[in-house]
Order: sequence, then C-alpha cells, then structure tokens
Amino acid sequence: PLTSNDLIEEHRICVCVRARPLNKKELTMKDLDVITIPSKDVVMVHEPKQKVDLTRYLENQTFRFDYTFDESSTNEMVYRFTAQPLVETIFERGMATCFAYGQTGSGKTHTMGGDFSGKNQDCSKGIYALSARDVFLMIKKPNYKKLDLQIFATFFEIYSGKVFDLLNRKTKLRVLEDGKQQVQVVGLHEREVKCTEEVLKLIEIGNSCRTSGQTSANAHSSRSHAVFQIILRRRGKMHGKFSLIDLAGNERGADTSSADRQTRLEGAEINKSLLALKECIRALGRNKPHTPFRASKLTQVLRDSFIGENSRTCMIATISPGMASCENTLNTLRYANRVK
Ligand code: ADP
Ligand code: MG
Repeated sequence: PLTSNDLIEEHRICVCVRARPLNKKELTMKDLDVITIPSKDVVMVHEPKQKVDLTRYLENQTFRFDYTFDESSTNEMVYRFTAQPLVETIFERGMATCFAYGQTGSGKTHTMGGDFSGKNQDCSKGIYALSARDVFLMIKKPNYKKLDLQIFATFFEIYSGKVFDLLNRKTKLRVLEDGKQQVQVVGLHEREVKCTEEVLKLIEIGNSCRTSGQTSANAHSSRSHAVFQIILRRRGKMHGKFSLIDLAGNERGADTSSADRQTRLEGAEINKSLLALKECIRALGRNKPHTPFRASKLTQVLRDSFIGENSRTCMIATISPGMASCENTLNTLRYANRVK
C-alpha cells in the first residue's frame, strides 16, 4: 500500500484511479471482477479470474498513473495523496482544483461528498469535508494566521450548461465575462465559514438542494457537475481558491443517440464539457498560453483556476470493478491517461 514516502512532491497535475468494491447489485447479478491493482501506480483490466465465459473478448490492458487505489482504500487515504497536497497551494496565493471523473455508480460522490450508509450520506468523511478540515488547521499556523484571511464557501451545480446555486434554493445564475476576461457567476452565494462544522452544514444544505424534487437522486446527479469551492480572501480580495468537483457521469456522452431530445442535448453538453476539461488541464500541464476555457460552461466558470503560475489540479478517476462496466471503465482510463 501507499505510504507517505510515495507522495510525489510539487507536480502541477496529478492523475489517479480509484476502484471501488463490487457492490450488492453486482454480486447478485454474478458480475465478475476484471480490475487488479498490482502496485501503487498500476491498474489492469483483464478477463475475470473465474472463467465462466469462454469467449475471450477482453485483452489485458495495463495503465499507469500517479497513484492507483484499490477497493480497500479509504477516503482519508485517497485524500492524502490527491486533495491534501493542494490545500497549501491556496494559502500560497494559488488556485487548486480536484475532479472526480467516472461513470455513474463508480464512486465519485462517495469520494467527494462522503460515504452513504443506507440513505444518509456521512459528508464528514468526503474530500469536501476533509479539505475544509485542513484549511481550518492550516489557517491557525503562524505564517498564515498573520495574513488575517477569511474563509468562504460556495456550492453550485452546472446542469445542461446552466448554473444553479445550491446554497440558495437552486437559483439560476448568469455567467458573465468582462473586458479583462474575468469570469463571474453573478449573485452566487459566498458564505463565510468559521469552522468545519459550518462547512458540513453547507454541504448538507447543498446536497439536499441538489436532489430535491427529483424522482431519483442519481438520475439527476449523474447529469450535472457539482462544484464546491473554498475561497480565501484577504481584505476582501481573493487570495486563493480550491474548487472540488463531482463531475457528471461520463457514460452520459452516449446519450447523444437517445430518442429523447432533452436527453440528447444533455448528453452532448456533458461530452462537450468533459472534452473541454481535458483540453484545459492539458494546456495547464504544458504551460500553453492558450487555454480553451470558453468551450463549455464548466471550464468557463473555472477559468481562473486553469491559468496563472500557481495553479494545480488533481483528477481522481473512479472505476467500477465489474465486467459489465468494462467498456465504461476503459473509456475512463483512456480519458484519464490523456489528461496528463
Ligand atoms: P457516483 O457518484 O459515481 O455515481 P456513488 O458515489 O454514488 O457513485 O457510488 C455508488 C455506490 O457505490 C454508492 O452506494 C456508494 O456508497 C458505493 N461506493 C462507491 N465507492 C465506494 C467505495 N470506495 N467503497 C464502498 N462503497 C462505495
Ligand atoms: Mg454521484
């Protein structure tokens, strides 16, 4: 398993993979595990070990990433190697982003928002909350204490190219770009927070707002990107910003051939934003002068996080271990592979 010695220091872009265990439904359907994580940075997609199917349709495929986390990994463990190293960035006047990318049901919300036990979500164990916890620890350090920083949080959703405020009854918000290319989400509620508990409350409010009025929670969340931000301000001016994003399910891109017009449009929008995201992260990694952030609403609202000297990003690609998910899993791994 990974230890603190394995922590790669100072890279701008970190890409890792997390596999969850087979769930009840998969076990009931006798789905088989096709994922092996043989070491701390390798993931293999292979034929199931139990050979029930005689057709050999799956070539062994091996991918390498900065870190790979197997089904026994905890949120705390994943956090230590992904988002935690980015907390310091925002204290050093930087911009940080952390994305969970993957198919619906692969564990994005579990990783970012926290574990579900039954119907309730324990949001204190997700990467949103763990990041907030460390921001409140860091701000007490003498170096940063003397800066007199204030901490704010926002939580919003991007659905079909439109922005909705999860801390203000899902109010629809406009995105404006001014002459200096500054992008603003007009009227977005920015709540000042004084402790981790206050952040947890906001996450709960946002989560319930996200799913309210929906027949099925997952049906909606799989089609929208949720953005949770921790913002540091010094005398009113932005000092640093950490954006943590639970992305729409990447399998939704396939909806472009759906018979339903709305579903088709949503699928196309998701495709567009995930492609734009990849290009923006690549541009950041290569120090390219041009970042194609205008290609989608998601990348547009994250514009200031993709430019600038001190921007860092992390992508957590979540995968389902079952053979039934194999095609989506390979798509996820290929995408993550090309981000860097
Ligand atoms: P997504 O947000 O990608 O659609 P979820 O986070 O909702 O997926 O996860 C789907 C289900 O799998 C949930 O019931 C969740 O509790 C469970 N799950 C996800 N990741 C893990 C994990 N690492 N360990 C145990 N259960 C998990
Ligand atoms: Mg989810």
